[in-house]
Amino acid sequence: MSKVLEEVLAANAAYSAGFGDKADLAMPPKRRFAVLTCMDARLDPAKFAGLAEGDAHVIRNAGGRASDDAIRSLIISYKLLATREWFVIHHTDCGMETFTDDIMRDLLRNSLRTAEFRNGKWTDPGKTEGAPDGDFIDWLTIRNQEESVLADVRHIRRHPLVPQDIPIYGYIFDVKSGKLLEVAKATEAGKPKIGKAA
Ligand SMILES: [Zn+2]
Repeated sequence: MSKVLEEVLAANAAYSAGFGDKADLAMPPKRRFAVLTCMDARLDPAKFAGLAEGDAHVIRNAGGRASDDAIRSLIISYKLLATREWFVIHHTDCGMETFTDDIMRDLLRNSLRTAEFRNGKWTDPGKTEGAPDGDFIDWLTIRNQEESVLADVRHIRRHPLVPQDIPIYGYIFDVKSGKLLEVAKATEAGKPKIGKAA
């Protein structure tokens, strides 16, 4: 058994031993909100936003971007599970700022192995079995955090399946201080339009 697998199963045994009344939690998030954020290992939404099991939905992907699949989850979160406030949280020092679609496509065409980031540049370990299929993926990279938060909040706000009365807040998590920094323009763009669809 791999070391990681062994560790995960041991941690889960301890966790489930103390599971207790969490067995009675309802499916809809108790505090009725959802967070869209990056998969970065330094971000722990349960800790930085004070969540316990059953409190909120957390949707994560590379960058915390408003991809079609993130929007699918947000719509389910509201329509079927009654969340009423959403957060889009990107973060400083995000890996999504380190490459472009072209860079990723070239790396994948070169090989499928893990690339190396040296002196601000991605290099591939060698010419092996690469594939051109990265050309068909929009990698949703980030040039500027404030712009990406604003773009994602606007994109969600404009979506025809997103209700107008839900506020969408835009924030950047600072990986150096653990603080959430508001992107005022994004929160402004995500303001609910009261009086429309409820
Ligand atoms: Zn990130």
